[in-house]
Amino acid sequence: MVWNTSKEHLKATGLLVSFWESFVSPSVLRIKGNKCELCGSGKRVCVHHKSYEEQTLENLQVLCFVCHNELHKKLYRLECKNVRSEK
Ligand SMILES: [Zn+2]
Ligand SMILES: [Zn+2]
Repeated sequence: MVWNTSKEHLKATGLLVSFWESFVSPSVLRIKGNKCELCGSGKRVCVHHKSYEEQTLENLQVLCFVCHNELHKKLYRLECKNVRSEK
């Protein structure tokens, strides 16, 4: 399934957030279930983009607040490895 919405277009029209919150996010949660795909928790779930290239179901992941935070911490570290080495 693909939502044919280019990010640039939505940004240009100022619709990105409202479209996402009112349409895409609820649809994904309805299809995939209101449960974190990693730990199964139903608390404060949100929809995470594995990639912002496409709005496909495969690219979206339902995560709870905790797992989502952890994931972004990891992603952030990966992005920052050239800036600050962690040993
Ligand atoms: Zn979780
Ligand atoms: Zn995310």
